[in-house]
Amino acid sequence: MYSNIKITLISFIILINLLLSQNFNGGENLKCQDQCNRNWMNKTFLKELKKMENKCSFNFYITSGYRCKNFNNSLPGSDKKSTHLDGLAADIKWDGSQKKLNEIIQLAKESNYFNRIYFHREPSNRHIHIGKNTNVNNFAARDLTKRSYYKYSNNNANNIYAGLIYNQKNNQYIRLGYHVTLDNGNSGFNIFTDKLIRKSNENIKNQFAIGFNFNSFIILGFDYYGLGLSLGSLSNNTNKSYYIEPALSMGFIFDYCDVWLNIGNIIPNKSSFNEIKGTNISLNINIGYFNSNN
Ligand SMILES: [Zn+2]
Ligand SMILES: [Zn+2]
Repeated sequence: MYSNIKITLISFIILINLLLSQNFNGGENLKCQDQCNRNWMNKTFLKELKKMENKCSFNFYITSGYRCKNFNNSLPGSDKKSTHLDGLAADIKWDGSQKKLNEIIQLAKESNYFNRIYFHREPSNRHIHIGKNTNVNNFAARDLTKRSYYKYSNNNANNIYAGLIYNQKNNQYIRLGYHVTLDNGNSGFNIFTDKLIRKSNENIKNQFAIGFNFNSFIILGFDYYGLGLSLGSLSNNTNKSYYIEPALSMGFIFDYCDVWLNIGNIIPNKSSFNEIKGTNISLNINIGYFNSNN
């Protein structure tokens, strides 16, 4: 008997939420987006969100709402105490317009209900998070855009950098690089040259490489992922050899420097340079001039 009432009550709440959520573009995304399919958005939250949309100069398109613990934890970089877990947050699509962002922040303040506005500018993840955190009283609007976006991914960003490279064979190189962003603002090309400055292997007199690298900023965890190919030349007292080095790199981008780990494989065309052949793990520390728009 009791459980029947409970089931009826839950069904009723789900029905109400369903009716409310249909009032939004993308309202179907308010329910959890894994197999559980629960629609446990807070009713007051939805009413306030609708009120806010009515005052706003543009319509909202919901991309995320309620999240169960399992689904929230499965999202890379997600806040373990996200208000999405309580049905007290909604993410809306955003075209990056500063005017629209300011409007949302202003309306959220005026609502005396919403107290957390977070925004991401990265094209792959561009949205505004509108939330109600019941554990805090203050209002906050925060830019959660990854640093790599500002530094490397803005359209027309041109970056010149210089760095030091150490590899696991204790060779040291100096690198000069140039990075240019591609049109979609989420990836770019690195062009660089490496010059051996200290060698652990006395058989190698000179080593020089030129390479390019395709970068992606989409995957979370590291700030940066890249796939690259270097073309190089080696010489000792009697011989000269060329080599290619495909490499995977990943790293972190700080305010004035970048730290990358490269895992490459050096393939020389002459067997006399077999000692340099194979895995090349190197740490890259770069200091740069970063010219981005924002
Ligand atoms: Zn779920
Ligand atoms: Zn969110």
